[in-house]
Amino acid sequence: MAEHDHPAPNSPGWDNPDFCPFCGHRLPDGGPGFVDHIQNDANATCRDRFEEWRENVADDIGGEWSG
Ligand SMILES: [Zn+2]
Repeated sequence: MAEHDHPAPNSPGWDNPDFCPFCGHRLPDGGPGFVDHIQNDANATCRDRFEEWRENVADDIGGEWSG
């Protein structure tokens, strides 16, 4: 019973930026909060999945993710 749906790891559609799309952890401030979150070694799994996701997006749009 998740309180919210997690987008697929390869999905660019993050409906709820206040939560980590990978573990559902609440983030204090959307994008910057997410960066802090994945830079924490406690969240290495989220970081790995984010890197995979970003590579997939880069393949799709042929460029870097700009937020
Ligand atoms: Zn997370």
